[in-house]
Amino acid sequence: MNNQIQSINQLIKKNKIEFIDLKAIDLSGRLHHISLPVHDKIIEKIIKDGVGFDGSSYGLRKVENSDMILIPDLNTAVIDIFRDAPTLSFYANIILANEKRSRFEQDARYIARKIEDLLLKETGCDKSWWGPEFEFYIFSDVEYDTRTSQSYYKIEHAEEFYKKAYHAANPFDIYDDFRDEACKILSRYGLKIKYHHHEAGERGQQEIETYFSDLLTTADNIITAKYVLFNFARQKNLYITFMPKPMYQQAGNGLHLHLYLTKNGKNAFYKKDGYGNFNEFGFYFIGGILKHAPAISAFANPSTNSYKRLVPGFEAPVALTFGMGNRASAIRIPKYVNDPDVTRFEYRPPDATMNPYFAMSAIILAGIDGVKNKINPAKEGFGPYDKNFLEDDLHKIKLLPRNLEEALDALENDHEFLKRGNVFTDELLQQWINTKHEEIKSINTMPHPFEFKMYFNL
Ligand code: GLU
Ligand code: MG
Ligand code: MG
Repeated sequence: MNNQIQSINQLIKKNKIEFIDLKAIDLSGRLHHISLPVHDKIIEKIIKDGVGFDGSSYGLRKVENSDMILIPDLNTAVIDIFRDAPTLSFYANIILANEKRSRFEQDARYIARKIEDLLLKETGCDKSWWGPEFEFYIFSDVEYDTRTSQSYYKIEHAEEFYKKAYHAANPFDIYDDFRDEACKILSRYGLKIKYHHHEAGERGQQEIETYFSDLLTTADNIITAKYVLFNFARQKNLYITFMPKPMYQQAGNGLHLHLYLTKNGKNAFYKKDGYGNFNEFGFYFIGGILKHAPAISAFANPSTNSYKRLVPGFEAPVALTFGMGNRASAIRIPKYVNDPDVTRFEYRPPDATMNPYFAMSAIILAGIDGVKNKINPAKEGFGPYDKNFLEDDLHKIKLLPRNLEEALDALENDHEFLKRGNVFTDELLQQWINTKHEEIKSINTMPHPFEFKMYFNL
């Protein structure tokens, strides 16, 4: 710790840092920040005392009990280039303002930390490794009509008529320079970029894929990626959205998560010549995830808009199945993986409206449950499906929830697996369910623009 403080102080000096920025996320996963001017011994001071804040405005606490404390996680230091003054930024942990200064049980970063310990204890696996894929749209302009709640997007002309946009080449891939530049910035923020390309959405859908990191780092990286991309777009006078389904009848934005575990540093799923090179342990892990997937959806797809994406015909997952090539499956085992070290599956449902710490923790807990209870996904009817099951045997297949209400009901009926090791408390689950029901209520009672078209003159 002392060494770490010393090297941070050197960083502050060397870069003439003027502000320390603490970044924290609220219950729903939205980023917030607070900035402190640098003074002598500031790091020592905020490590010890932290910075007080109002937890009720983060949706974490009731107003009458809302005093909480932010303490920087020194491992997350990064120079934030999106502020004019030289700024050193940290993700913050949330601490209770009590005598003991104990960690707040519902702090999403604390939950992610606890999962890493629990995984070791329950399965002997030392780490989980995650590779997130970011899909988003870029617009040159966005207007929002408050009267009709309708949004209008302006799309660069060249792209508007471009078909087969997946990996679109120039002159039609008009934002490849944006992605180059964005990827360079993302790597300054610690993300390891695999590649970027135009995605299938014809009207400016983009994708950036990353290499693997551990759970907490990856969840932080997901928040960072959104922060960097929103800010960089603003600098370029562009607008981007990660919204799961921003446009009717265009591909939605997923945030697929590739995942594998290691045991004593070795891939824990690998078996030579198994289906997808998977061993029994790996299949039990998948079995647990598929069994609990409807409840996981309450965290991985926690917006009403999420379910407008999860429909057939757009390469979004709809079925609670696993398979090697099938992109309509919730779980895809990539066929082209040659390196046993990264034997993995891709969990396709998540989207960027998730709180990644909660969603990823829920995925691991479901996997642990699968391992503990030896849930064999093939025996449970989850696959493997490598064909287009949507036409022939749809009736045999279980599907993902069709809307947020169904996902919340699933969570209400199936949450024991989340309480292993006391990771998700009853209080947090109830808070999540209530908050999300409130969202559903506002949206359900709001006239939709399409309803004007359908019913205004009826
Ligand atoms: N955009 C698709 C989705 O909503 C995914 C396309 C892909 O496989 O990358 O999940
Ligand atoms: Mg994609
Ligand atoms: Mg993918």
